Amino acid sequence: MDLLYKPPKWLKSFFPDVLWENRQEGIVLTIDDGPSENTFRILDSLDSHKIKAIFFCTGKNIEKYFREFNAIIKAGHRVESHGYNHKRLIFKGEKENEREISKTNELIKQITGSEPEYFRPPYGWFNFHTTTTVRQKGMKMMMWSFLTADHTGDFSKVKRLSDSYLERSSIIVMHDNKKSRDIFDQSLDYVVKTAKEKKYFFVCF
Ligand SMILES: [Zn+2]
Repeated sequence: MDLLYKPPKWLKSFFPDVLWENRQEGIVLTIDDGPSENTFRILDSLDSHKIKAIFFCTGKNIEKYFREFNAIIKAGHRVESHGYNHKRLIFKGEKENEREISKTNELIKQITGSEPEYFRPPYGWFNFHTTTTVRQKGMKMMMWSFLTADHTGDFSKVKRLSDSYLERSSIIVMHDNKKSRDIFDQSLDYVVKTAKEKKYFFVCF
């Protein structure tokens, strides 16, 4: 099960074009699934730690939480694509993969003036059609090297995984959704504390 939380080397080597960790020193914090009604709180939390993050947003939520989406940009964070409807693209054909990615790209471009550069597949599940579409759009796929488990709502799990898996060039995933809402702040505090103890620092692309 920890395969998902810390993808193993063999899996990474199977997909060399995918970004699994930061190639330079520094932890990259990514936040999936937003925007949501919790986004403003997350922005405050990031601000208190002086961290800039990459928000992988769904098109559906950008439309629903438009104010929150603009606040993410205004606060100087980066916004990238997490597809439109948060579907399991591994089970979808060429058309649906294309639609999920195009629709979100167009929406982000309308608002920010430029298309996203990175795509993160919902649930981390993708197939050949996903990788082909991402490549055709001139984008890159960004996965992760450490999934914090904040979406389980179990803070003791976040602690255990952070103690074991946080590394100096990790790409971390946290969530801007209902499931992580109650433990997001304490999870981020714990990850930042752990990073500081190990003398790691945060960067953003
Ligand atoms: Zn997601």
